[in-house]
Amino acid sequence: MIEFDRDFVMTINGRSVASNNAFPVYNPANRRAFANAPDASREQLDDAVSGAAAAFESWRKEPYAVREKALNAMADLMEANAAEFMALLTREQGKPKAGAEWEVFGSIHWCREIAKQRLADEILEDTDARRVVTRFAPLGVVGGITPWNFPILLAIWKIAPALISGNTMVLKPSPFTPLCTLKLGELMRDELPAGVFNVVSGGDDLGKWMTAHPGISKIAFTGHTETGKRVMQSSAGTLKRLTLELGGNDPAIVLPDVDAKAVAPELFWAAFQNNAQFCNATKRLYVHEDIYDDVLKELVEYAKTVKVSDGAEDGAQLGPIQNAPQYEKVMDYFEDCKKNGYRFAVGGDIDNSAQGWFIPVTLVDNPPEDSRIVQEEPFGPILPVLKWRDDADVVRRANDTPYGLGASVWGKDLERVARIGEQIDAGTVWLNEIHMYSPGQTFGGAKESGIGYENGVAGLKGYAQAKTITINKQPKF
Ligand code: NAD
Repeated sequence: MIEFDRDFVMTINGRSVASNNAFPVYNPANRRAFANAPDASREQLDDAVSGAAAAFESWRKEPYAVREKALNAMADLMEANAAEFMALLTREQGKPKAGAEWEVFGSIHWCREIAKQRLADEILEDTDARRVVTRFAPLGVVGGITPWNFPILLAIWKIAPALISGNTMVLKPSPFTPLCTLKLGELMRDELPAGVFNVVSGGDDLGKWMTAHPGISKIAFTGHTETGKRVMQSSAGTLKRLTLELGGNDPAIVLPDVDAKAVAPELFWAAFQNNAQFCNATKRLYVHEDIYDDVLKELVEYAKTVKVSDGAEDGAQLGPIQNAPQYEKVMDYFEDCKKNGYRFAVGGDIDNSAQGWFIPVTLVDNPPEDSRIVQEEPFGPILPVLKWRDDADVVRRANDTPYGLGASVWGKDLERVARIGEQIDAGTVWLNEIHMYSPGQTFGGAKESGIGYENGVAGLKGYAQAKTITINKQPKF
């Protein structure tokens, strides 16, 4: 029986490992530290990597069925402990119960579905004379590095494809939300051969050591674009394979033919789900000028009905900001808006004396296109609502960003919706819906939103080395 409220330890080469140093983990709803997580030393990382490297030799030879069974066991254990995971997730991350449930059950679903995926041989030629086949061989030890916004789900998006394709893993969660991931490692200790799945916790330095580590073949990273660039630089020394899932500044474009009242809740949640601490959150809302006032009014009305509170409270729909540096960062966008005289249609005043890192849902009424709130990724509940008139112009504005993670277009005229959507440079474009993902659906960022993919065959191939074998069956010797 695993306790979810104490004994947070690492899993290294099949063993429970504490550390000489530890760091506090805070509940963002009250700013109080409630647990400590081990701060891994370099030697402990080395142990994890060498354990994973040793385990790779046999794990890579296991048939898919064995690896699928292990991932199904992971899903079953998460399901059996779902209530505990959800409570701990709310406590360390801040998200309300519904969000925690979505994340935990989403993780279980992903684990089971990715477990069924296969990298089949590709036979290019097979005659009496020759055979040419491309196989997909595992890479070795994969280093997984995750952020704090969806700590369990984004870990599973890495663990499941890495393990099913025959790699072993060393996973490092964000220092702000390490606890659920540590518990996942503990749960799997008896289910997997020692060394196949290691969980280490620590600060950003641990991430740096991983990216430079000669024993790690690939880094699967989710986080900020600027951190992603540092990961790439550091990984260059050993030419590691990389999957980088980075920041976004997703536009949503609303056509003039929509019903303002009906679309408002959808647009609201497109932007504010997970308290807008979401890579794919709508971060710029472009509303056609003919319906701008109506949509803004409906959004304001809807925003007033949404309950922001401690995620553990019944009825909470949005929780606090997850951590102190992020809170400071979001506050800075409020200051910038105030300094420049932008109008808040709703929200705008932060009560700094609140128990937790709470920020009210805020809409900024048509700020200039070159303002920071439009150009940057606040990663908090402050959304610029912008006017547009001309299709070509709104497409240009939507694409005028170094990011290219996602986008959405909303309207009744499906041809126009599709025409606009096709012109947006982004990894995922949703038309008349948003945030629809699936384990089989390729996900990844264009431009500075990332390199490589997660999910689908493209995601799985990122965990493999293509190995082409040709044979001349009729040698003349
Ligand atoms: P972050 O970049 O600060 O941290 C992410 C992880 O990287 C953490 O585990 C951190 O300890 C580690 N890290 C920090 N510095 C490192 C370094 N130099 N080398 C190696 N590892 C290092 O990001 P965050 O604040 O945790 O997450 C928010 C960001 O993540 C946002 O930009 C968001 O858009 C992005 N994100 C992207 C996706 C996606 O799929 N594209 C999904 C979720 C979040």
